[in-house]
Amino acid sequence: MKKITLHRGREKSLLRRHPWVFASAVKNFGAAESGDIAHLLAEDGAYLATAAVSAQSQIVARVLSWDEAETIDEAFYQARINSAVARRQHLNETTNAYRLMHGESDGLPGVVADRYADVVVLQLSTAGIEPQRELLAALIQKATGARTIYERSDADVRKLEGLGEQVGLLRGEPLAESTIIIENGMTIAVDIAHGHKTGFYLDQRDNRALTKTLAYGAEVLNTFSYTGAMSVAAILGGAADVISIDSSASALALARSNAALNNCDLSKMTFLDADVFMQLRKFRDAGRQFDLIILDPPKLAPTAHHVEKAARAYKDMNLLALKLLRAGGKLMTYSCSGGVSPDLFQKIVAGAALDAGVEAQIIQRLTAGRDHPVSVHFPEGDYLKGLLVCKL
Ligand code: SAH
Repeated sequence: MKKITLHRGREKSLLRRHPWVFASAVKNFGAAESGDIAHLLAEDGAYLATAAVSAQSQIVARVLSWDEAETIDEAFYQARINSAVARRQHLNETTNAYRLMHGESDGLPGVVADRYADVVVLQLSTAGIEPQRELLAALIQKATGARTIYERSDADVRKLEGLGEQVGLLRGEPLAESTIIIENGMTIAVDIAHGHKTGFYLDQRDNRALTKTLAYGAEVLNTFSYTGAMSVAAILGGAADVISIDSSASALALARSNAALNNCDLSKMTFLDADVFMQLRKFRDAGRQFDLIILDPPKLAPTAHHVEKAARAYKDMNLLALKLLRAGGKLMTYSCSGGVSPDLFQKIVAGAALDAGVEAQIIQRLTAGRDHPVSVHFPEGDYLKGLLVCKL
């Protein structure tokens, strides 16, 4: 077993069970290389944890086990996969699309696995886990009985690990052009090969369900609408009409076909190919008002480095949206940026209300669903935060 020794004092975060080791914490890397499994030792030689090594990354090791006696072998990976899958069993009652494995929070850093009906999409994001691709695919297929295991390891973070993109069929039958999922009674066609993330925003499932309950009779504005799942939820919830805005024509085309799949009344739906920031200004200048506005932008601050610029963009769109709401109207506003904490996000929205000159109250805090757990020792896992705000 290779051994990585940390500088004196740098064992502290590991003793609190935070699973990452930064390059600056390492005193002696031993002969550890990317993809190796190594023991992490304190300066005095005491065992701390067993980790997967990413030699090129700023995060050089990620913990797989806290038990010196545990071997990282096939049985280890199968146990982690089986227990993560078992914890999601209850979701089968409401959806056939959900996250099966959520990285660090499910005990396997660098591994995301998402189920879409009988397809499982595997996304690997670290050099440490990269050599386990075939084994993980086989074990996930065994645990789930999935017809297809498809890989979507094309997230930007792989570059920081010195890895290129890996996309394609891993096991089983080839992927169909689109995969139909059923979530809380709503039918959605997912383009697994080309869609965002692993194909779809599974993390917003509970918030789509909430949208449905808030939409009755409302004039709804759904910005950054992507493939229209929030818009369809609003129509199914009885919205009077829904405007969906996205700058991607292909996303809007899919949104339209998802609306048709759900027998939505298309005369109540408008799909606008536009820049959200400009369109919100146009609506403001035209004096348009809405009862429910959804702001779910893409990741504006992937890391702490981009926070300031992102904060300005979040404030701008929230300010405009608060102005466009009728009194009593509701705003569902989100940030999926890892660099923006829930606390900072709330401050940004407060600043937006202040500058918009409106009174507002938070009625509910919104997060990713229960298939995206956050390990108590890994607050970084809590990336999606939202606020349901009522304009007074
Ligand atoms: N709310 C969606 C996910 C949003 S993903 C859901 O629940 O499924 C972000 C979307 O914003 C993408 O479809 C992207 O095309 C779009 N987008 C990014 N920047 C934009 C901009 N400035 N104006 C309009 N759309 C934008």
